[in-house]
Amino acid sequence: MNVERVESMPAATPLRWRIPAACLVLAGVTAACAPGDAPEAEAEIVPTSVLFTGATVIDGSGEASFTADVAVEGDRITFVGDAAESEAAPATQDTIPLDGLLLTPGFIDMHSHISVITVGEAYGLPAVEFLTQGITTGVIGVDGASSTDLAALYADLEASGVGKNIISYIGHGSVRGTVMGMDGRAPTPGELDEMRALVRKGMEDGAFGLSTGLFYTPGYYAEADEVIELGRVAAEYPIGGEHAPVYDTHDRDLGAAYQGIGYHNSIREAIHIGAESGLRTIFSHFNAQGAALYGRASEGAAIIDSARAEGIEVAGAQHVYTSTMSSLRAYTIPRWAQAGGPEQMVRRFANPDTARILDVQTMEMLEIRGGAEKIVFADARPEFNGKTLADVAAERGLPVPEAVREIMSESNPWVMNRDLYDVENTRYLATMPWMMTCTDGATPAPGAEIVHPRVYGTFPKKIKDFVDRDGAIGLPFAIRGMSGLAADFLRLDDRGYVREGMVADIAVIDLDRFTDRATYDDPHQLSEGVVHLLVNGRFAIRDDEVTGELAGRPLRRP
Ligand SMILES: [Zn+2]
Repeated sequence: MNVERVESMPAATPLRWRIPAACLVLAGVTAACAPGDAPEAEAEIVPTSVLFTGATVIDGSGEASFTADVAVEGDRITFVGDAAESEAAPATQDTIPLDGLLLTPGFIDMHSHISVITVGEAYGLPAVEFLTQGITTGVIGVDGASSTDLAALYADLEASGVGKNIISYIGHGSVRGTVMGMDGRAPTPGELDEMRALVRKGMEDGAFGLSTGLFYTPGYYAEADEVIELGRVAAEYPIGGEHAPVYDTHDRDLGAAYQGIGYHNSIREAIHIGAESGLRTIFSHFNAQGAALYGRASEGAAIIDSARAEGIEVAGAQHVYTSTMSSLRAYTIPRWAQAGGPEQMVRRFANPDTARILDVQTMEMLEIRGGAEKIVFADARPEFNGKTLADVAAERGLPVPEAVREIMSESNPWVMNRDLYDVENTRYLATMPWMMTCTDGATPAPGAEIVHPRVYGTFPKKIKDFVDRDGAIGLPFAIRGMSGLAADFLRLDDRGYVREGMVADIAVIDLDRFTDRATYDDPHQLSEGVVHLLVNGRFAIRDDEVTGELAGRPLRRP
């Protein structure tokens, strides 16, 4: 998903959860919930001291479940075992009998877009859509789009509070855009140096690595060598002083890129960039796009497997929906026509020769995506929301490519591409031992009626579809991809497992009720079944109720 800014900021939707009044975040309010506003917030935090008894623990390692009591004191897990039998069991203030409910590590969402690129989009801070799936940490700064001042972003997040923990990469597209705008050319040596400096700053501010969106502009204009040069700068900042940082790729061609390099070459390019840079590569929302690749994800997985067999650390993350989401421009305007930025693009539209070429090329782009009927607006603006591109063109009385250019002259709305992924591919990829999970979701802009349901439902849906329904993967394996595997990949040495000494990011789940409820037609439905959720040892959900605690924090690269 692209993280271009949404131009509109419509009226707020009613909140369905309980949030302290001082933290009510309204559209357009920039500094909601600043420390001074929250009445006695700091002073009243009583350190958690709780013993969960009789839990069915799946600890994040992939091993089978076991029954145990789990104690949390402050922000740490202090005991896992049989409390009645052990002298080491702490005398906690609170006992919560779980009677066999599942207790797991809080989930790590490897690719997300919590709307805090600027805290001006503060409606994303509570992160309730994510918490109710069991997510306690989200990785942002993906697709090449990040803040280029992570120090300021993290300071803002620490001041405002945020519902879940945040990890960020430094985004190549944002770095390139800052230095070169939307120029469709190679950088000069001086520009490359400026870009290096921004990557360096990002890493010094705490980024876990470099992300790219070579499918998008301006990332598309970069050759692999440019990314490698910048990746080498990121590689100078090992995680924990010893582990190579991450190269997170929304690669150039997931299969549906127009006049692209092809699905297979795109995977090879990303592995090459990571290896040459000295970074460890993760494929964002890894899948094979377009009907021509239905049933063929194993070909991509095989490329990753052979790199791994050579000792190159490569992994992926997935969501389990068949629709993607991005901007209309990304799906309908060839990259050559976007060079120089939106104004120059619109000026090009006025040239009749260019328009004639675009009449053909926009239709070719849409054909790969299943046609204008498959493009559904998820933008908050009511003139678009929920309609297909075919609908909007008909309303405007224009052929589709002309309608696209008219819309592009006004704005660049959010759209979904329905049915771009095939369930068989997604299920196959879910069985890979290197596969993690990601929502690719952003907190919906207030007022947007139709949005992508993935932001509300990815994690429970994966368990419901591929564990319960298909039996394609086992529950401990699924949980591992959502927790321990992700923590290992990020080299978080104190999260991702239910073990003594780990930070208490914990989900208590009633598996009988654990389900997504968001659909394409009725997306604003929180998932159900997370009974308790601890973020850094504080209850974000207790007894099925969102507490409103903003217990997350930015996690800087150790
Ligand atoms: Zn993406």
